[in-house]
Amino acid sequence: MSKQQFEHLWMPFTANRQFKSQPRLIKAAKGMYFTSEDDRQILDGTAGLWCVNAGHNHPKIVDAIQRQAATLDFAPTFQMAHPLAFEAATALAGITPKGLDRIFFCNDGSEGVDTALKMALAYHRVRGDAGRHRLIGRERGYHGVGFGGISVGGIAGNRKQFGPGLAGVDHLKHPLDIDRNAFSKGLPQHGAELANEFEQRLLALHDPSTIAALIVEPIQGSTGVIIPPRGYLQKIREICSKHGILLIFDEVITGFGRLGSAFAADYFDIKPDMIVLAKGLTNAAVPMGAVVCNTSIYDSFMQAAPPDAIEFFHGYTYSAHPLACAAAIASIEVYREENIFQAAADMASYFEAAAHQLRGLPHVKDVRNLGMVCGIELEPQVGKTTTRAFDVFHRCFWEKDLLIRTTGDIIALSPPLIISKAEIDCLFGRLAEAIREQA
Ligand code: PLP
Repeated sequence: MSKQQFEHLWMPFTANRQFKSQPRLIKAAKGMYFTSEDDRQILDGTAGLWCVNAGHNHPKIVDAIQRQAATLDFAPTFQMAHPLAFEAATALAGITPKGLDRIFFCNDGSEGVDTALKMALAYHRVRGDAGRHRLIGRERGYHGVGFGGISVGGIAGNRKQFGPGLAGVDHLKHPLDIDRNAFSKGLPQHGAELANEFEQRLLALHDPSTIAALIVEPIQGSTGVIIPPRGYLQKIREICSKHGILLIFDEVITGFGRLGSAFAADYFDIKPDMIVLAKGLTNAAVPMGAVVCNTSIYDSFMQAAPPDAIEFFHGYTYSAHPLACAAAIASIEVYREENIFQAAADMASYFEAAAHQLRGLPHVKDVRNLGMVCGIELEPQVGKTTTRAFDVFHRCFWEKDLLIRTTGDIIALSPPLIISKAEIDCLFGRLAEAIREQA
């Protein structure tokens, strides 16, 4: 590509000038591999962006999208619909936790989060409890880039350019505690008591009856893989229930098998009131997000409005887009037919053992993991955060034919769930070389 062809695109979450001086381009993908512009086979250590759970270009999903594009390109879902919208919701409700089976479609995770927050506020209002107007998130939470999401989110870089955000939002501490939990395998031992801070804060600073919802990622992914301490999420659920606060699980990353069960809610055996989904919903082949809520939330809206009234004034032109619905139905079938969630569960201990072999490499200060996710935290270079991990990322891409993801000085790995043992060995072997060579 010529230099001019790079000028027009303003790339998201990218150092544009740096990228354009040495572009990293992908031109195709299949299964576990990307093909780079210069024809290298690059092992995908990140399932794209935590989303291609069944591997790239799965033939069944490709075929479903192609057939749908030739049949019905678009139909509105405002006061109209097409059958696939209902089929996709039914397919999804077939794998969501029991009781969580009412589905609102949107186009991505950010819209899913904003939809869930609006649904929570409106739910209390339709029940005559409009005083519940506060939303709570957590430090280092990532909930997408809408104004709702950045307000409840807790990553400074995502907030500081954009003013104050939503009013009435508060944040809990994140549960990462490297001093006590470094190199934990699976759920860290220490920190469940941090959940109590939630209740203390509610009582000390806010009347709990003003809180509409708490939103948490079961694993905080984008911020660098923060795994909840043993018992922490269970306590969070208890406190929400005690005070009538809705609990929203943002499962944009953990949904569709990442922890070896369909959802993190299943893995932890916790029932949130709502789950936000995206990414793996269509195996990333077409953008789509969803909010799954419990039947009683849906019923409250239905009962509050006259039968011919719109119950929830919210929606997107592309809610339940036919191509996305076709991709979602096919993806859910693939997950079931190929037993992909179970494959992830079976591979998790091998993945864990391989990840922890990085312990002892230069500058590795923590390795943490759960299911098919792991985070490797590096000591920052003096006075320069992010540069060490970014250097490793660069070496992996250009010299090791491996795609990893970094945030700050943390490397996050979340490969497609079809990864084999040999590919896990390859992934961690190449990464270890890059970490050594960077030192
Ligand atoms: N929520 C979580 C937990 C995420 O990890 C992400 C994206 O990584 C989002 C929301 C936003 O999703 P999207 O980028 O599809 O808007």
